[in-house]
Amino acid sequence: MRNRDTVYKNSITVTMMQLIDKLSVLADAAKYDVSCASSGAPKRSSKGKSGLGATNGMGICHSFTPDGRCVALLKILLTNFCLYDCQYCVNRRSSDVPRARFTPEEVVSLTLDFYRRNCISGLFLSSGIIRSADYTMEQLVRVARLLREEHEFRGYIHLKTIPDADPLLIAEAGRYADRLSVNIELPTETSLIRLAPEKQVVTIKQAMHTIHQGETEASAERRAPRFAPAGQSTQMIVGADNTDDSTILHTAQSLYGSYRLRRVYYSAFSPIPHSPNTVPFAAPPLMREHRLYQADFLMRGYGFKADELLSGPGNLALDIDPKLAWALAHRDQFPVDLNRAEPTMIARIPGIGMLSAKRLVDLRRQKRIRFEDLTRLRCSLEKAKPFVITQDYRPSLAGQESAMLRQHLRDTPAQLALW
Ligand code: SF4
Repeated sequence: MRNRDTVYKNSITVTMMQLIDKLSVLADAAKYDVSCASSGAPKRSSKGKSGLGATNGMGICHSFTPDGRCVALLKILLTNFCLYDCQYCVNRRSSDVPRARFTPEEVVSLTLDFYRRNCISGLFLSSGIIRSADYTMEQLVRVARLLREEHEFRGYIHLKTIPDADPLLIAEAGRYADRLSVNIELPTETSLIRLAPEKQVVTIKQAMHTIHQGETEASAERRAPRFAPAGQSTQMIVGADNTDDSTILHTAQSLYGSYRLRRVYYSAFSPIPHSPNTVPFAAPPLMREHRLYQADFLMRGYGFKADELLSGPGNLALDIDPKLAWALAHRDQFPVDLNRAEPTMIARIPGIGMLSAKRLVDLRRQKRIRFEDLTRLRCSLEKAKPFVITQDYRPSLAGQESAMLRQHLRDTPAQLALW
């Protein structure tokens, strides 16, 4: 009897160790994907239900590592085996990394276990492509279905869709997942043809079209749950090819406009061991990724167009943020009188955010805006100073040459080093 117990315990230990080994491989393989933030996700309704992970009154939380990666979700690949050989990818067929594969049941068990221990608020699941796009997508959907239907999991689920999978599978994925995403990876078709020739047949537009077909299929059903209520997102790799920021921002703008994408994420290319010489050996500056996020935020939240942020080909400046760069290039529109200007113009002043612009407009209904009001609203005074007029202040720096002003306002080397 004792012998049987020992054998049973040993077999559990071996299984656990195998699972942990797989986890270390497949969590590591997923770290290059940044399109996993759960921000903006509406709560999945838990009304009348007490299932695990119900978000009643607690919302969905998330956090980021210092380099901007989201860590509050269990972020893993189902497998890092892949049929394809995309040259910028650590999981490409010819890469000599250790390989592993979870079963859908193992992913379910890990998710529930981490959730119960309060380590995560949900799951981000992607996969290399095995056998076929449809087979891989079926496996991903199976994980979400088991979590939602068998375990009544009401936490956050983000599934990465396989670009050319059947729209019916995408429809099913959208019924279970809060967010679906498909990675554009490279911003131009030319780069896709060069670095991912086997994948180039599926462009981002075709992939988004498949998701929309899935959405249509899903909403055709009576009383169907909302299709991926947290919307769709994508990721672009920056610096794996020579695409400039102007092209990247114009691509993002067209994705926001044509496909109602919730977010575009930018991921600075990480050189991978033994990579082919078609991709760079050095990573681009992380500041480049940061400036793209700032520019993206200005397009989504402040009404800037890609053309305004970069009027021709090229990259965003690294030493100053894109809003300051725009203001320095449009000195004729400054200084702005805070007691008269349109709210949209106030929000374009460097150092003054959208919320502060709104508060200033509310405040000026009661009194004339004075310079100290900017301090109270915690605006960035150093940046705003040369660009504003208040009742008691007119900038002496307003007449200063843009080049000198830029020198004065540029991020310090210490700030740049943080990125
Ligand atoms: S298909 Fe995806 S996982 Fe496979 S090599 Fe290409 S980028 Fe990597």
